[in-house]
Amino acid sequence: ALTAGIVGLPNVGKSTLFNAITQAGAEAANYPFATIDPNVGIVEVPDERLNKLTELVQPKKTVPTTFEFTDIAGIVKGASKGEGLGNQFLSHIRQVDAICQVVRCFVDENITHVAGIVDPIDDIEVINLELILADLETVNKRYQRVEKLARQKDKEAVAEFNVLEKLKAGLEEEKPARAIEFSDDQLKIVKGLHLLTSKPTLYVANVAEDEVQDSDTNENVQKVREYAAKEGAEVIVICAKIEEEISELDAEEKVMFLEELGINESGLDKLIKASYSLLGLATYFTAGVQEVRAWTFRKGIKAPQAAGIIHTDFERGFIRAETVSYDDLLEAGTMAHAREKGKVRLEGKEYIVKDGDIIHFRFNV
Ligand code: GDP
Repeated sequence: ALTAGIVGLPNVGKSTLFNAITQAGAEAANYPFATIDPNVGIVEVPDERLNKLTELVQPKKTVPTTFEFTDIAGIVKGASKGEGLGNQFLSHIRQVDAICQVVRCFVDENITHVAGIVDPIDDIEVINLELILADLETVNKRYQRVEKLARQKDKEAVAEFNVLEKLKAGLEEEKPARAIEFSDDQLKIVKGLHLLTSKPTLYVANVAEDEVQDSDTNENVQKVREYAAKEGAEVIVICAKIEEEISELDAEEKVMFLEELGINESGLDKLIKASYSLLGLATYFTAGVQEVRAWTFRKGIKAPQAAGIIHTDFERGFIRAETVSYDDLLEAGTMAHAREKGKVRLEGKEYIVKDGDIIHFRFNV
């Protein structure tokens, strides 16, 4: 499964947020094969459509799809030089598919800040710089190897060399790889280098309890927003403390608590959704009387691959995907109605699955 790593300097609220994630965690009974790793928190992906489908179909059971967060502790200044737990930190971060960087935006004199004062941009830059330096090392190593081949006019080597030169120049200016422009062909080469700063990233601005409702009053949040905009990155505003409290509530209490706070969605739910889309993930549904269920797929895959997410036999024996879009089904009211109106399509092997599709796979066993 794909996972987003949670990083941040000490004392910014990472553990508080990760606690909220594990406490809110997915109901284990629904996911018996999920791995149990103390650094991984598995959460259910909130999806209004799943509730609507449940009302419509009245199944015995409803199963949301899940998403994984990985807690990555231990970033400090100098990590890229292998100081402290630095190397370990970098190798953990290498293994995640996206990065959620928690940034301290709340001011609390009782809680020390590693740099003495709360300056979110400084904090972001400390972490980003470590990642940039680690990438620069990767690029330099590769550069030395490819340089000779490129001089011999080896075509592939020349292409890679050009990419490496551009990366080197950008990283030396302290730009993350994701902020450097490349052509589509070049991007493929960049991807092959598995750089830390080319991973999709979002910033999680952690504000004080009384700031969640109107975070624009928090100057630190404004600064993070400006910074992220330059990189084309997204910002989610949360209060980790409140998320920890919410994670202890049941569904009904949660709705009431959010109402009291004057917000319609918890910060954690926002974070889950944003991380999910950051990774290019989407959801299709299966809907039967036994079970209505959401499944995660990577945008762009075809119907047989999507079937394979449920079971490899479904992919191997794939015949057709009986498909209706969520909007069409909702408008029709029932599956039978949707069929009468010609909204249920029979799709073949080449069909590219779309977010919100409700699919019934037909397959040979
Ligand atoms: P970590 O070192 O990044 O894992 O930070 P922790 O989650 O341990 O938080 C450090 C301290 O900040 C703890 O005392 C938390 O209770 C406190 N803290 C975390 N989030 C918030 C918040 O949203 N508001 C306030 N006031 N304190 C927070």
